[in-house]
Amino acid sequence: MITATELGGRDGTWQSHPGFGIYVHIPFCLHRCHYCDFNTYEGLETLRAPYVDAVIADIERDERVGRSVTSVFFGGGTPTLLTPHQLARILEAIGARFGIATDAEITAEANPETVDVAYLRELVHAGFNRLSVGVQSLSPGVLQRLGRTHSSERAVQALRAAREAAFDDVNADLIYGSPWERPDDWVMSLRGVIDAGPDHVSAYALTVEEGTPLHTLVASGRVPDVDPDTQAERHRIASDILAAAGYERYEVSNWSRPHRASRHNVLYWSAGDYVGFGAGAHSHVAGRRWWSLRLPRDYVAASAAGTSTVAGSEELSADQRAGEALMLGLRLTSGVERAAFVERFGPWSLRAREEDIASLVKEGLVEASGGRIRVTTYGTLLGNEVAARLL
Ligand code: SF4
Repeated sequence: MITATELGGRDGTWQSHPGFGIYVHIPFCLHRCHYCDFNTYEGLETLRAPYVDAVIADIERDERVGRSVTSVFFGGGTPTLLTPHQLARILEAIGARFGIATDAEITAEANPETVDVAYLRELVHAGFNRLSVGVQSLSPGVLQRLGRTHSSERAVQALRAAREAAFDDVNADLIYGSPWERPDDWVMSLRGVIDAGPDHVSAYALTVEEGTPLHTLVASGRVPDVDPDTQAERHRIASDILAAAGYERYEVSNWSRPHRASRHNVLYWSAGDYVGFGAGAHSHVAGRRWWSLRLPRDYVAASAAGTSTVAGSEELSADQRAGEALMLGLRLTSGVERAAFVERFGPWSLRAREEDIASLVKEGLVEASGGRIRVTTYGTLLGNEVAARLL
């Protein structure tokens, strides 16, 4: 069996053979944050146990046996609202059905208010080796306005508890550029997180998604909309502060210490294959995409009845696959290697896009040299424009 280490990915570069990932969606939260449009729900306490059984039954029915898993990611929602035993049962089912490669990356997302050292030790004992903590900000005012219910102290404690529990890898998730955030808040959040010593930092610009309480506030004029120039400036500040502390940016919004990039993230950006379990989870294998029933109750009912939990699917054409793979690969700072890309997606995959690539190079958005295509720092700030022209 190939090991995850042999496959690579920890240096954050595009992978020709990105491995095989599993995503598990846990759609429960203590409280909905004002900006969140993820498929997650408050309450539903009584659905948690049946949901775990439903996910396990779905995994046990899956037909892709014999393909060893190089990364597993439990996301949500708040996976750490489940007990360590429940999370361990799901992980065991994945191991029994697919086989998990030696030294695979196994991540759980955690909300700071749901974890302590004892809980996290149980997760490590169950086989989890990476914890991603939703810090978002260390400014009490920003946290409160985002609808986060944990304190900044609790967020830092969770990062330190992960270290104490002996997680190999710890990530801190941050959000920047909210209408309430002052430049000092952002600098203080970055410095406070760095002090807690994570291996990896993900920092995303706040987006105002339709259907969220934040969108209602912005649409009614009670809160100003986010400002792209301010967000670009905050991204630059993050890059400077994190680089000075030894973190390399390997993707638009992700920084890590050397060789601590997330293998699971790199698999996504290398257009690798992954299967998602749980309500609304998405999957992609060899150009076919499908997604599960969105509502947890529907997902549980279908799985319990032994019927399909798939809500829809689509087949990508070879050209769509290449376009999407290029767009994803260009999110990585190192970009894509031409020869490896062509070997995987065919000679026409880049030939059909050479004119667009040349015009992006002329505009300073993309660099194409030394057998690589990569987005420039300027192009990073205009990622949607680059993506739209290469798809
Ligand atoms: S904790 Fe995360 S998933 Fe849950 S509501 Fe807040 S942002 Fe959404």
